Amino acid sequence: MFDKPLYLRGFQPSRRRRFEAVGAVLFVATIATVNYLVFFRSNDLIEPSLDQRLALTVEVPEAAATESPAPREPEPVRTEPLRVEEGVVMRGETATQTLLRLGASPASAAAALNALGDQVNLRALRVGQKVVLEIGSDGTIATLTFPLDVTHYLEVARSDGGYTCARKEVETQKELVQFACMIRGSLYASLERCGVDRDLAPVLLDLLEGQVDFFTDSRRGDVIRVSVERESLDGKFLRYGRVRGLLYEGKVVTASAFPVEVGGTVEYYDADGRSVERAFRRSPVKYTRISSDFSLRRLHPILHAYTPHRAVDYAAPRGTPVHAVGDGKVVFKGPKGAAGRMVVLQHEGGWQTYYAHLDKFAKDLQVGDRVTKGTFLGTVGSSGRATGPHLHFAVAREGRFVHPRSLLTSAGQPIPRELEPEFKTGVAHVVGELKALSIRGVDGSRS
Ligand SMILES: [Zn+2]
Repeated sequence: MFDKPLYLRGFQPSRRRRFEAVGAVLFVATIATVNYLVFFRSNDLIEPSLDQRLALTVEVPEAAATESPAPREPEPVRTEPLRVEEGVVMRGETATQTLLRLGASPASAAAALNALGDQVNLRALRVGQKVVLEIGSDGTIATLTFPLDVTHYLEVARSDGGYTCARKEVETQKELVQFACMIRGSLYASLERCGVDRDLAPVLLDLLEGQVDFFTDSRRGDVIRVSVERESLDGKFLRYGRVRGLLYEGKVVTASAFPVEVGGTVEYYDADGRSVERAFRRSPVKYTRISSDFSLRRLHPILHAYTPHRAVDYAAPRGTPVHAVGDGKVVFKGPKGAAGRMVVLQHEGGWQTYYAHLDKFAKDLQVGDRVTKGTFLGTVGSSGRATGPHLHFAVAREGRFVHPRSLLTSAGQPIPRELEPEFKTGVAHVVGELKALSIRGVDGSRS
């Protein structure tokens, strides 16, 4: 066994790097979401799919691109009707080429894109980005609509001979959905049994992820109470919007989430004013049971002697995936005596996590690699000195092994102090509403 943490200096990722990493992940996630929404949601089903559209032969009118803008008289007052042209940016096409293909005049396309370019990086347009033009018979663009997601778009409009770009939002209809539901089985199944749309489950799981491990912490009879805005667009369900309040009353854990607007974005905090975003997962593996807890004095199953066990053993079938509990850097990977095949990660704040007795390492995982929360590290095994397949998971801080609980259940960042009084008042009000709801799904009823 390894009694002392690997003492490794110079592996303290700076706070800044971590924020950059988180920022990058959020950025990618946002782009992915927007792509998804713009591609698969905003386009009606009657429209051809992107693949179908891309499969069409595209003729980029090269002649039009070289055509020089005709010198023009001052604009006459337009009385002719505008036509609407809708299209997407094709592979290998510039924004200018897209607008020309849709019938815009080169001068007007250049001027409109100049205005759009203040808000969008035109050199990095996605293939498939939608644009809608209102256009005159001479190719003058009256408006250019550039959807950002289902409800946000940029509108470039002609005014005084030039173009201005404004960010706009589509108004959605909101209705409030409130319920209390008894948990039996998965959250999905429970919501369904309570007569609630199961599509709400991912929204709730996202908020609860850092507080409740549904694999191990949830018990039959737990109760979830929710107040959430359901948004529709033109009478059709669009999405679940802001969660006004969420309470999870469990036998093992309690959790909560309430929104706070910080700098124009909504962030969620628990009832104690701690961010629901946690730096660490609640466990590195989906385990069947804890076969040996952290203890400074225990009878060793193989050595039959009292030796401290400064780790938690998670029993799980051989081959079960093991994941990084938080963002960090691989500082050790390899066989290490009794620990068998082991990975050690260095995290911010002087924390190290150890994953021992692995069966196999993740392919391509190397010392020095940066990993993020949830990165696959290897599989559960019994390499080294182990009686059966389990993950020996240890946590060290500043060179000492500590109970993993101190890391895995660490609280999120506190709410900014100046927002706290209003937050507490709001929470008390919503909690009152949530507690008054009658519980559905008791004994299979849908009351
Ligand atoms: Zn162990």
